[in-house]
Amino acid sequence: MTSTLSVFTDSPARHLVCRGCGAQFPLAAQHACYECFGPLEVGYDAEALGRVTREQIEAGPQNIWRYAPLLPVGTDPASRVTLDPGLTPLVKADLLAKELGITGQLWVKDDSANPTHSFKDRVVSVALTAAKALGFTRYSCASTGNLANSVAAHAARAGVPSTVFIPADLEPGKVVMSAVYGGDVVAIEGSYDDVNRLCSELTETDEFEDTAFVNVNVRPFYAEGSKTLGYEVAEQLGWRIPAQVVIPMASGELLTKIDKAFSELVEIGLVPDTQWSVFGAQSAGCNPIAVALHKGTDEIVPVKPTGIAKSLNIGDPAAGVYALESVRRTGGWMEYVGDDEIRAGIELLARTTGVFAETAGGVTAAVLKKLVESGKLDPSKETVIFNTGDGLKTLDAVAGTVGPTHRVKPSLKSVREAGLLS
Ligand SMILES: *Cc1c(COP(=O)(O)O)cnc(C)c1O
Ligand SMILES: [Zn+2]
Repeated sequence: MTSTLSVFTDSPARHLVCRGCGAQFPLAAQHACYECFGPLEVGYDAEALGRVTREQIEAGPQNIWRYAPLLPVGTDPASRVTLDPGLTPLVKADLLAKELGITGQLWVKDDSANPTHSFKDRVVSVALTAAKALGFTRYSCASTGNLANSVAAHAARAGVPSTVFIPADLEPGKVVMSAVYGGDVVAIEGSYDDVNRLCSELTETDEFEDTAFVNVNVRPFYAEGSKTLGYEVAEQLGWRIPAQVVIPMASGELLTKIDKAFSELVEIGLVPDTQWSVFGAQSAGCNPIAVALHKGTDEIVPVKPTGIAKSLNIGDPAAGVYALESVRRTGGWMEYVGDDEIRAGIELLARTTGVFAETAGGVTAAVLKKLVESGKLDPSKETVIFNTGDGLKTLDAVAGTVGPTHRVKPSLKSVREAGLLS
């Protein structure tokens, strides 16, 4: 693809900029710098961003597209490939706060309440809207599960063929949900990092020339979709930024983009200028970013992921160094938790908030607990934690630890004997 995104004349996006050396490139299907091979991200015209108002956003649709004036894809609904995700609940978590000894306000941003039940609908809607404008005619991705669900569903809605690539050992719920939309689902005998490397190779082939891999060749646009989670939390709090946020990390991209969204809102003047601290959550089976932070280095040593938090199992995280930068600059921290803590985190969140999270949400809840216990997170400040996926997709994680609490015969006597009426 050689075309550029010139069609979105009302978008504030102006170029792709290298996160490594700052070199600029046109808005096109390119993800690595020709000078230094660094990753590219979308750069905006500050003046155009500065013209966006709260009123304009509040008058927009009840989904991520209310933030279209802050995204690289313009505001024309007819141009979109989307399931209209977003505006998910921000749940006040008073009982969880009490249980953990948190005295400040605590919230759970429940992004399982999206069309395919994870935050990935946000990134896919932005990536595929860009991909359509760039002329791509097949949609694809390298996925740890949720991304494949979302790409397949978006393609089905748009009537465009899809081919998604997943590790063969994914949870059954995520495999079924990728396949049900009718596209091709390719299970690779290897890890996510193998899948990702293969997809990078495929983008270079003639056979896949017309294919947008949302998190490979159009990755800069994909990544911008995550900003909407940050915008939404600020708007739902009445246009202010919380003091602390706890975010699960796979590639680390989501964390960096929530931080970027907060910075933009301050620069534009849509929220008061405040300090915030960003905290990252990983599992013990895949913790390369957190370990680098603990060691005080920028060098992220790739790992072979293990453990139940499969959606976060990226052993060689593409945005890891930028996640480290966000966390260090904002005075946050990172932690990781083992599988038993993840299961306990899922149950804790469910029991105290009514939110049933997938394993990634269990990681985040358990890391919140750990951060409070270690004193790294200030329990007197306002905190938002992000649940990025739905527990129904990873039922196996807790199926062995929860179940019926009583078993009785269908008679009053039997219920009485079980002690249920006393
Ligand atoms: C993809 C994913 C993440 C994190 O993604 P990044 O690669 O760090 O942007 C978090 N939670 C869930 C459930 C995911 O599917
Ligand atoms: Zn560069």
